[in-house]
Formats: sequence, structure tokens, C-alpha cells
Amino acid sequence: MPTCDTCGNEYDKTFTVTQGDRSGVFDSFECAAHKMAPTCAHCSCRILGHGIEASGRIFCCAHCAHEAGHDAAVDRVS
Ligand SMILES: [Zn+2]
Ligand SMILES: [Zn+2]
Repeated sequence: MPTCDTCGNEYDKTFTVTQGDRSGVFDSFECAAHKMAPTCAHCSCRILGHGIEASGRIFCCAHCAHEAGHDAAVDRVS
């Protein structure tokens, strides 16, 4: 039985998430996000949407990018 890389739960319907050269086996999207999702450089929340990159850092939304001094950042939808 595969086990979740985040919580260690044994589950027969785990799935694998690959991102660049990282990959993990998870039993739920919550666990996958916990381990794989980037965190906002300003508020530290998990970024589950597209996020915003500014100067090599990633933010959850334009508001956080603005708070961190990136005035030109705008929400990118696609
Ligand atoms: Zn899990
Ligand atoms: Zn944020």
C-alpha cells in the first residue's frame, strides 16, 4: 500500500505530483499542497492559484506584492 509523503497515511488511491525535479506521493490534494505549493513571500499563505512572481520571489496576490514594494505587480489570470 502506498503511503502519503506528507502525513504517512496508507491509501490505495494515492497520486504522484511532479514539479521540475521534485516529486511526491500523496493521498489528498491538501497533503500535496502542503508539501509542493510555494508560499507567499509576504503573508506566508500557500499559493494554490497562479501566484505572482516579482524579482524572483512569489506572492499569492498583487496586494502582497504591493505590500512588499513591487508596485508594478498585477494579478495575472492566464
Ligand atoms: Zn496525506
Ligand atoms: Zn500573500
